[in-house]
Amino acid sequence: KDITIAIDGHSSTGKSTVAKQLAKALNYTYVDTGAMYRAVTYFAMQNNWFEDAQLQTEDLLTQLDEISISFDFNQETQKSYILLNGENVEDAIRSMAVSNKVSTVAKLPQVRSKLVEIQQEMGKNGGIVMDGRDIGSVVFPDAELKLFMTASAEARAQRRFKEIKSKQQQVTYQEVLDNVIERDQIDSTRSVSPLIKTEDAILIDNTNLSPEAQFSQILQLAQE
Ligand code: C5P
Repeated sequence: KDITIAIDGHSSTGKSTVAKQLAKALNYTYVDTGAMYRAVTYFAMQNNWFEDAQLQTEDLLTQLDEISISFDFNQETQKSYILLNGENVEDAIRSMAVSNKVSTVAKLPQVRSKLVEIQQEMGKNGGIVMDGRDIGSVVFPDAELKLFMTASAEARAQRRFKEIKSKQQQVTYQEVLDNVIERDQIDSTRSVSPLIKTEDAILIDNTNLSPEAQFSQILQLAQE
């Protein structure tokens, strides 16, 4: 039977890497919900919703219906990518500028309900691996397998820093560390769907766990 796998946890814990590997191994669909919040944030930035670093909530609510989000799969690269109103924004949404604003946008209940609805529709038939912050708690509370991933903030920032550097983006380790800590703080304390580990989620702390060891452990859980 095709099950639903929910992967939640702190920022930059390798959720998407594991989720992609699992989806490939099980022949399931992978959905990156963080990309969806990032795409709405990117749209907000393009439409000047941020003025003096303050989000123009009113504007957002009137324009929310103009945002269409979907995913597509590139056969050649074997990678999925996100489309914002038909445009591939997979790379644009990974900038530090978007990272610095996304948690503010993700706090808005109207944004969350719009995206949760799309996510539930995408996963209604099972056979899905979805990663985010509220998948096991809100989107699919009945998921057969729930994982909650964490690691020390320093280990996470270190990995993320290397990844961003490899894409030739200008950033310091301290900026990345500050961003990781700030996002987790906002995500964990917001009033709507805060990031929490549900009781039935399996905790995975990968501070000192190799990606290979982690994956074989998780694959086993998925096949039990
Ligand atoms: O997964 P990623 O780090 O790309 O997510 C970016 C941000 O989107 C998170 O820091 C969080 O604010 C928000 N998010 C969320 N709920 C999800 C996925 C992401 O609030 N299910």
